[in-house]
Amino acid sequence: MNTLNQQYEEKVRPCIDLIDSLRSLGVERDLALPAIAVIGDQSSGKSSVLEALSGVALPRGSGIVTRCPLELKMKRKKEGEEWYGKISYQDHEEEMDDPAVVEKKIREAQDEMAGVGVGISDDLISLEIASPDVPDLTLIDLPGIARVAVKGQPENIGDQIKRLIQKFITKQETISLVVVPCNVDIATTEALKMAQGVDADGERTLGILTKPDLVDKGTEETVVEIVHNEVIHLKKGYMIVKCRGQKEITEKVSLTEAIEREKDFFNSHVHFQTLHDEGYATVPKLAEKLTLELVHHIEKSLPRLEEQIEEKLAQTQLDLERYGTGPPTDAAERLIFLIDKVTAFTQDAISLTVGEELKCGEKLNIFSTLRREFGKWIQHLDCSGEHFNSVIEREVEQYEEKYRGRELPGFINYKTFETMVKEQIKKLEEPAVKKLKDIGDAVRKVFIQLALSSFAGLPNLMKTAKTKIEAIKQEKECTAESMLRNQFKMEMIVYSQDRTYSSSLDDKKKEEREEEEEDDYGRSVVYSTDNHATLKELMLHLQSYYQIASQRLADQIPLVIRYQMLQESAIQLQREMLQMIQDKDNLDVLLKEDFDIGSQRAALQSRHKRLMKARAYLVEF
Ligand code: GDP
Ligand code: MG
Repeated sequence: MNTLNQQYEEKVRPCIDLIDSLRSLGVERDLALPAIAVIGDQSSGKSSVLEALSGVALPRGSGIVTRCPLELKMKRKKEGEEWYGKISYQDHEEEMDDPAVVEKKIREAQDEMAGVGVGISDDLISLEIASPDVPDLTLIDLPGIARVAVKGQPENIGDQIKRLIQKFITKQETISLVVVPCNVDIATTEALKMAQGVDADGERTLGILTKPDLVDKGTEETVVEIVHNEVIHLKKGYMIVKCRGQKEITEKVSLTEAIEREKDFFNSHVHFQTLHDEGYATVPKLAEKLTLELVHHIEKSLPRLEEQIEEKLAQTQLDLERYGTGPPTDAAERLIFLIDKVTAFTQDAISLTVGEELKCGEKLNIFSTLRREFGKWIQHLDCSGEHFNSVIEREVEQYEEKYRGRELPGFINYKTFETMVKEQIKKLEEPAVKKLKDIGDAVRKVFIQLALSSFAGLPNLMKTAKTKIEAIKQEKECTAESMLRNQFKMEMIVYSQDRTYSSSLDDKKKEEREEEEEDDYGRSVVYSTDNHATLKELMLHLQSYYQIASQRLADQIPLVIRYQMLQESAIQLQREMLQMIQDKDNLDVLLKEDFDIGSQRAALQSRHKRLMKARAYLVEF
């Protein structure tokens, strides 16, 4: 490792420091950072490789040993400086000054997160190590791919592990180190297949052959071909290393001693010596290659990283705006906050009822609904009038029976006229009340929508406003209904100004004459008998009066509805909402934030902070 030249300090160190600082900001929660993940079948030698690279004993042995992803952050210190370690997981953090305790601490962490036994967990254990003997590297050790479940493991443990591995290696930012022992057929290795699945050309896959001392006699040349990248081609190629075997561990061979033995092993090996000479063998060479690969990879990832940070920042800013600032903590400021919120809402409610633009930015409009509904109302009045006419026409035959009193032919009976008019107008009462209720519902909906957007995130305030809107709607609807019913009671007095009536009658007569002239040119004359003449006269009067009454109702009903359901409702709402603020004991209840909103805003704020710092790091870099 001392072979790394000065270029290393100048180029490698800052790159890796940058990523490490980004990582320690927690930016990884927001976007993927360049990393190296170690994958392979169970017992292929993953932990041994990591151990050799880091100089720290990791939990290893047979069966499933690595049960959580382990992030191993290594920092090279200057010669003579002290070893330092730190383990962190979930909200646990512990510093260490002795490499010998690392293994125990990792086992404890795994038991904590994945349970004592053989279960696995997706949660990351982070191990930081600083020492003069380690390379500047961050590696992630993953559980090995198991073929069959052992006692105590769920049936699908294999799939669980594969899913976990997939999660790491799918990321464009991850280099996969695929660890394969020399004594198995590389083509059938599950880990290599998985890596190829997400990285077909092997652009970010590096093969590592382990256990060269256990190679089957006679297959050495195949191993050499593999390392020469002639069997399964990977752009990043292969390395071969020899770590401590079980026997050496039992004999307590130190890691430094192991590196010496590794060098001797390759130097004296008949087949593998060439690989050593070519620089494809030994742990130190691997460390060197990995570091350079990582640096290269980081440099390549930086533009994309910057882009991602910008994107995330923009999105976070947008989200934050949507969440608003939330209520302040100071009591006096809280009251002001509440007053502002409520005033804005009630002002908007009033603006809504006069069709003016809202301050809350919401595009709510009652008047389009009103115009449509009131248009339907006048249509209803017209229809009802036409229906009236045809009914009378059909009743021609029964006129004598039904309506004629003691009068001689040619006289129309005023009482008959009144009765018929009243009957017809009475028919409009229920539709008018129904119109009121329909519009009342529509208006309430819009008010509630306004409350939803004005008091977003303040559920209690919103609920109070909703209750008030509902109660006021009921109250105003009652008043309006009785006003409408009174109107219809008054309409039972058949009345109009003489002048108005005469002019309406004149109009009708003129219309009638025009029609008769038309009749001379071919239409059969309908009314020929005396009775018919009387009826015709009566119809003229009925139509004239209906014209006036329906015009009156066409305006009156909408006026009552607008007055009570809009104007009065909004004023009442304002009055009650402002009254509510007076009660200071209520302040905290009303301003209680939606738990979700509060914590989501906090999360967004810290993400924003993180990303701003990350961007600053990148800009400085
Ligand atoms: P992992 O499950 O992939 O993490 O594998 P381990 O690193 O725990 O290694 C499994 C076993 O293989 C351990 O007993 C190691 O001592 C042994 N081992 C690892 N590398 C070598 C090697 O290069 N040569 C020999 N002989 N044994 C090795
Ligand atoms: Mg392991």
